[in-house]
Amino acid sequence: MRYDHILSDALLTSAQLEGGALEVQTPIDGTTIAQVRTHSVSDVEAMIAKATKAFAKWKLVPAPRRGELIRLFGEELRNAKAELGALVTLECGKILQEGLGEVQEMIDICDLAVGQSRQLFGLTIASERPGHSMRETWHPMGTCGVITAFNFPVAPFAWNFALAIVCGDPVIWKPSEKTPLCALATQKIWEKAVARFGSDAPEGLLQVAIGMADVGETLTKSRSVPIISATGSTRMGRAVAPVVAERFGRSILELGGNNAMIVAPSADLENAVRAIVFSAVGTCGQRCTSLRRLIVHKDVRDVLVERLKAAYANLPIGNPLEDGVLVGPLIDEGAFIAMGKALDAAKAQGGTVTGGEKADGVSGGQYVKPAIVEMPGQTAIVREETFAPILYVMTYETLDEAITLQNDVPQGLSSCIFSTDVRETETFLSAAGSDCGIANVNIGPSGAEIGGAFGGEKDTGGGRESGSDVWKSYMRRQTNTVNYSSALPLAQGIKFDI
Ligand code: NAD
Repeated sequence: MRYDHILSDALLTSAQLEGGALEVQTPIDGTTIAQVRTHSVSDVEAMIAKATKAFAKWKLVPAPRRGELIRLFGEELRNAKAELGALVTLECGKILQEGLGEVQEMIDICDLAVGQSRQLFGLTIASERPGHSMRETWHPMGTCGVITAFNFPVAPFAWNFALAIVCGDPVIWKPSEKTPLCALATQKIWEKAVARFGSDAPEGLLQVAIGMADVGETLTKSRSVPIISATGSTRMGRAVAPVVAERFGRSILELGGNNAMIVAPSADLENAVRAIVFSAVGTCGQRCTSLRRLIVHKDVRDVLVERLKAAYANLPIGNPLEDGVLVGPLIDEGAFIAMGKALDAAKAQGGTVTGGEKADGVSGGQYVKPAIVEMPGQTAIVREETFAPILYVMTYETLDEAITLQNDVPQGLSSCIFSTDVRETETFLSAAGSDCGIANVNIGPSGAEIGGAFGGEKDTGGGRESGSDVWKSYMRRQTNTVNYSSALPLAQGIKFDI
């Protein structure tokens, strides 16, 4: 078959690719590239039992030694970067540069996690009682269920996995049913690292559960899976959050975004255009951080829109495996239909649409011309996340007005301002500014790097992953008070003599 070399380079075997019930299609041309076996509810229950056993051993392995396993995983990912990057492109349709970038993110989080494994720091706390010490310590928490979306088939998994493993937690990964092959290939790369590590890695530190939402639900319902990290739509988060909360589990939710850029009169328009095009049409508008709303000052609006239309007219759209292509396909026909419906709604709400049709000269997949939609205001459709390359353009006069528009959507993931006026940029980053988890100055809303905490507020779910102190989400906190005196004073001076 046409893509056999990519599948075999990723070490996927015919046993994994044939005979299963789950059909995997490449968005490149819509052909079926594999028939993958799915897991049943009882298979997933067996995985949970195996992970529980693995946890009993892994939590006792010293954290820096756990970090050594992630160091080896990072090495294996470096060796497999080209192969896994191509598979990401084949399975989810992002251009090869972005497929490789996703694997690089996996490598980067491994590096961060290795260092973190020697820095799972607690605190010492002053005790009010003489001869007493208090401290806070961090312990492994238990199995972590990681549910991921199709558009980033490997990086968000790795953000969770690398930290969970150094924190002492086994992982059961439920990838999107649209991208199971990337997960199976990643598991093979992981197994190479485990084979080099030695016998203190128990079996079952990473298990992959393939299937639809029911497979995910088996994880979310289980009391033996104390942490659920779920990346996907707000609709999915609304289903998952109450199930996990009902059993007092911990959830880390990374849900939809509706990200905006404010372009002020002082902005460097050259850079703004480049940032807008990358973040609005990159990954064919299928990033959680894709730019969806442009809020432009009235004095620069016409010139900016004109330049954007010129840039959009020359976008290379086509097979994402080919050099020079910048826009690949949408994931499937459903995504194309949803894009069409959103554009119809935008027109009905007063918008003027440029683009949005099927791209010329490419067939098989759902190749579209990214759309620019000039809106009279922030109408209902603009407030929704449509997972496609649609950029709504609105105008503002005062910064207050722009910030109000930026914040007046249900989602709260990423945001940015282009301005060279420090009063404006600092206001945007202040409590009076953006309400998002990510707020940038003079760069676009997408393309975050490892090191910062990634995630957002409101309908985005409130979770944080990847950098900063998010390792704490994979551990349980314990407060210890130690009495090294020969008396037994009570706190708050309470007398309780017997
Ligand atoms: P989706 O919600 O359809 O599916 C995501 C995952 O959730 C899949 O693995 C799916 O099988 C699983 N799932 C669905 N219902 C479930 C349930 N009831 N219980 C357990 N698991 C369930 O999302 P998608 O179409 O694959 O991805 C696109 C969406 O993901 C967009 O909204 C995008 O913004 C969001 N996303 C967010 C981030 C982030 O970090 N905030 C990153 C990537 C994607």
